Amino acid sequence: MHDNKFLERGGEMGKLTRSFNWQETKLGGPETWPQSLKTTLSIILNSSFPMFLFWGADLICFYNDAYRPSLGNNGKHPSILGMPAAEAWPEIWHIIKPLIDQVLAGGEATWSEDQLIPIYRNGKIEDVYWTFSFSPVSDESGSPAGVFVTCTETTGKVVAYQQLEENNRQLALAVEAEMLAQKKIKENERNLHLVILQAPVAIAIFRGADYVVEIVNPLALELWGRKAQDVLNRPILDAMPELREQGIKSLLDQVYETGEPFSAIELPVQLLRGKQLETAYINFVYEALYDSDGKINGLITIGIDVTQQVLARKKIEESESRFRAMVKHAPVAIAVIKGADLIFELINDEMLKLLGKPSSIIGKPYASALPEMQSQPYLKRLEEVYTSGIAHRENEAFALLEHDGRLIEGYYNYIYQPVKDDDGATIAVMAVAIDVTMQVKARQRERELNEQLTSMNNELNTTNEELIQTNEEIYQSQESLLQLNDTLTESEARFRSIVRQAPVAMSILEGRNLIVATVNDMMLDVWGKTDWIVGLPLAMALPELAGQPFLQILDDVYTSGKAYYGTEAKVTIEHNGELKDAYFNFVYYPLKDNDKVTDFIMVVANDVTEQVLARHDIQEAEEHLRMATLAAELGTFDMDLVNGTLDWDSRCRLLFGISHSDPVTYEKDFLQGLHPDDRERIDKIISDAFVKEISNGDYDVEYRTVGAEDKKQRWIRAKGKVMFNDDDKPVRFIGSVLEITNQKENELRKNDFIGMVSHELKTPLTSLKGYVQMLHIKAKKQEDDFAINALGKVETQVNKMSAMINGFLNVTRLESGKIYLNEQEFKLESLVQEVIEETMLTSASHDISLVPCDSVMVYADMDKIEHVISNLLSNAVKYSPRGTPITVKCEVMGNEVQVSVSDEGAGIKPNDIERLFERYYRVETTESKHISGFGIGLYLSAEIIQRHNGKIWVKSEFGKGSTFYFTLPIATGKQ
Ligand code: ADP
Repeated sequence: MHDNKFLERGGEMGKLTRSFNWQETKLGGPETWPQSLKTTLSIILNSSFPMFLFWGADLICFYNDAYRPSLGNNGKHPSILGMPAAEAWPEIWHIIKPLIDQVLAGGEATWSEDQLIPIYRNGKIEDVYWTFSFSPVSDESGSPAGVFVTCTETTGKVVAYQQLEENNRQLALAVEAEMLAQKKIKENERNLHLVILQAPVAIAIFRGADYVVEIVNPLALELWGRKAQDVLNRPILDAMPELREQGIKSLLDQVYETGEPFSAIELPVQLLRGKQLETAYINFVYEALYDSDGKINGLITIGIDVTQQVLARKKIEESESRFRAMVKHAPVAIAVIKGADLIFELINDEMLKLLGKPSSIIGKPYASALPEMQSQPYLKRLEEVYTSGIAHRENEAFALLEHDGRLIEGYYNYIYQPVKDDDGATIAVMAVAIDVTMQVKARQRERELNEQLTSMNNELNTTNEELIQTNEEIYQSQESLLQLNDTLTESEARFRSIVRQAPVAMSILEGRNLIVATVNDMMLDVWGKTDWIVGLPLAMALPELAGQPFLQILDDVYTSGKAYYGTEAKVTIEHNGELKDAYFNFVYYPLKDNDKVTDFIMVVANDVTEQVLARHDIQEAEEHLRMATLAAELGTFDMDLVNGTLDWDSRCRLLFGISHSDPVTYEKDFLQGLHPDDRERIDKIISDAFVKEISNGDYDVEYRTVGAEDKKQRWIRAKGKVMFNDDDKPVRFIGSVLEITNQKENELRKNDFIGMVSHELKTPLTSLKGYVQMLHIKAKKQEDDFAINALGKVETQVNKMSAMINGFLNVTRLESGKIYLNEQEFKLESLVQEVIEETMLTSASHDISLVPCDSVMVYADMDKIEHVISNLLSNAVKYSPRGTPITVKCEVMGNEVQVSVSDEGAGIKPNDIERLFERYYRVETTESKHISGFGIGLYLSAEIIQRHNGKIWVKSEFGKGSTFYFTLPIATGKQ
């Protein structure tokens, strides 16, 4: 042990140095140390600030207790005490060596703050930060012999700062993202707001389960009788307590809980108007709104105040019923005879008694209810009153009326009073009559008695005059014949003049050729023609009717003799060289001669274009609104076809793999963004959407995009609407897009799988079928009844199974574009007949009848069309109860032939009808669960018919039955 006394003053360090052999170091024992080293060490060892010393040529290490914590556990302490620095600090030697050299060479101190010096401690290299100074210490000769280090470890501080900075950066990012999201939400909301505020119907949005009014448009406020500040941001039932007692809460709750929309027509609601409650009649709907998780978080209500209409109607109904009561109980005979046809609309008991007719004449025209009037002037008078609008009154008029088969003479005081509508047009005639037969007859008798006497005196004279009179009579009868002729022409002329002056568009068409016999100015306006068309057949007068259904309907009216009423029928008519669409309510009324054969058709038409278009506009606004409400998940596009600009929102851009927000174009971004296999198809669909006749502006497609930047393939469903101006030019195309990649991929996987399995099943099934047939033949030979029966059943099942597998294979082929048409000319009707017979063989449960048509040829793939007919027939059998009839009809319509299959089965709800032709779509009902099928029959049928340029559709009334139709073009013989 050496003399370490000096060091012992250094506390803990001193203690440790006792076991340290200084002789082993190049420095030698403390007794050999220069004074300057000793002085420095004494400062270091007594300091409670961390200090270190490198001494001598080997830079032997010294340090004090305060420094020790920086060396960590299981680290360098105490081994580096007395060690040369290069060995003690290999891991940081490259950092500190230059500093030491610099200090020793220059004799000047150096200083660093928060410097990273990773050192080995606690068993590993740790990132440690230091603030330190290196100062030179000289020996007795005055030359630098050591480096004195004071230092503090600042790792904690530095790490804390770094952490703080990182936190700040994250915070800034989060704030920015939040602001962006807020902005986006605000934007969407503003759009929705705008749409709602400008909507032509009352709209409000309620949020949360207590229905806080979030948005309300002016029409809704007007309807509620409230100001915006009274209701906004308040629960609606607090803001409008009058709704509470009216069960509105439970309606709202029901929609909120179930998500099922609620709609009401003309629902009476008590609303505060001014200071008091008033009944308003409202058509409205409640619909649920969903948050991004699909949970209901509010309701939207859309309504229209129809109080005025309802009240007006009620008033009319009320006054009508008052009037009816008055007529019924009046003590005089009254009848109301309506319209140009003079139909008995209302007639009281007194009048029935007077006319000697039963009440069943109500609803009949005057002329047919009172045939005995043919030769009397009353019908003519009624017509005059109806057309002139001037009342007619007569006293003691003579009339012959048929009572129980006998003609009874009578005298009547009567008045025919025109009944006019608000516009002053006569709509009916009211007849009031009093029977004065008794009075007149009594007076006549009196007169007769007086006259008898006079006449006896005159008899002689008379006889003389008789000869002259006979002569005159002959002359007169000739005269009256001429007069009768005149009346006939006159009545025809009058009829024509009625037509011409009628306040509605009217025309009379003569004969099967539909010659325009009479037409009034209003009808000429409707037709956009002048009166040079009088005398022409309608087909020549209006050549644009070719291809429209009206000529055929007129012809049918001729054949059937029954009137035809059209409502809101769309007619395309040429006005000054331009084709225009208009909507009409019209009637084709057959006029018959005495033999009840139709010889004229009266056409009356009423232009309702404005109403229809107005309704379309509202529908359009509603459609837009619905789209807007969904905006949260949908991308939207808006194409201005007048200025040729295209607007995509960010979601839409994302779906096309575009991250910038520069302007986009249809050619460059949309068409180029489509998958090459979809490009041509979609381009065609869109150009069709721009033609109103073809598409009515509807657009609903699925396509793939290939991201412009990310090259990712996505499946998109797009839906939109083209808007047209008055001339049917497309002006705007708006809509939305939704990503359906996942669904699509699943679907494709499913298809591949089904395709593969079907393919694999086909071979074993074929041999199974072969064996079964062989066994069947054998069983028949052996007359084994049980086996024959059982094998028959097996065969049916195997056939069913192979039909099903073929169906699946066809779906896969169709989808991969591998279905080809093997077209030929054949008689459609014979094929229909064949399929019916085949179906009857396998299912005797129904009676299938065929209404045949003229036999026509079609140019089509016979097997595939057979498949379609057979599918429709087997569906009719499957989905209708045993024993009910099935009717197949074949009709030629223009250059198409239409086949229909009607059943009296369960029918289909409107919602399902829309989706029936989709792949794998089946209607889910408790009954249908037990009926086998996969929902591919109709899908395949539709694809087949479409590939033949035909149409397929269904009409059905739930609970009553369904009719499926398809059409095919008739072969022109040129293929
Ligand atoms: P499948 O009959 O194999 O289910 P289809 O594609 O032929 O498949 O028919 C799809 C669905 O349309 C059926 O599931 C059924 O719900 C409905 N459907 C088809 N035809 C009729 C019909 N004549 N009457 C009622 N529903 C029918």
